[in-house]
Amino acid sequence: MSYEEGDITVVELKRYAYCPRILFITHVLHLDEVVSEAMEAGLEQHDDAIITPIVAKLKALRVLRSIELRSELLKMGGKPDYLIITRNKEYIPVEVKWASSDKGRVRWDHKLQLAAYALLVEENFKTTVKRGYIYYLKDRRVAGLVIDEGLKNLTRRIVENIHKIILEERDPGIVSPPTRCVNCGYKAYCRPGLKLRRPI
Ligand code: SF4
Repeated sequence: MSYEEGDITVVELKRYAYCPRILFITHVLHLDEVVSEAMEAGLEQHDDAIITPIVAKLKALRVLRSIELRSELLKMGGKPDYLIITRNKEYIPVEVKWASSDKGRVRWDHKLQLAAYALLVEENFKTTVKRGYIYYLKDRRVAGLVIDEGLKNLTRRIVENIHKIILEERDPGIVSPPTRCVNCGYKAYCRPGLKLRRPI
């Protein structure tokens, strides 16, 4: 399945969670991210065997790897790392991240990403997705997430907002704290003079 003109990707929800302005910078101003060594490390590939314990725990009947999904309703596409289908015909998205968990829980940006995959799976497989998992490579933890209607609705609203930023060229402005901007790949264009004071 291929994406269509005007589609956004699930990865863009993760970026929005980091900072909505990134969407304006990339889609309206068409500027590229300045990629640091740390970011490149995060792009490293992982071995499929890493999710074997999750597959066993969920009693998977099938595991689909990097399946391309698209939502006509949301004008959004995405490829979950894994989609597990259990013996009870439950569909469960699973992601592997080169990051640490939030003290054993799924991080906010990854919650949105899992919920977005859930919406794609629901539309494509005519099912209801109730949960997802993230394997965090840095602290070697598996964090589960209940994907309820509240989170799905919030995700739908954010997708709508992203489309508005792009179509109406709406600059959301600087809404992120400076601590986040310091590690942002768009700082050079967005907040070039920003320096954090060292604690005394
Ligand atoms: S520098 Fe800060 S405000 Fe600008 S895009 Fe990055 S996180 Fe957002």
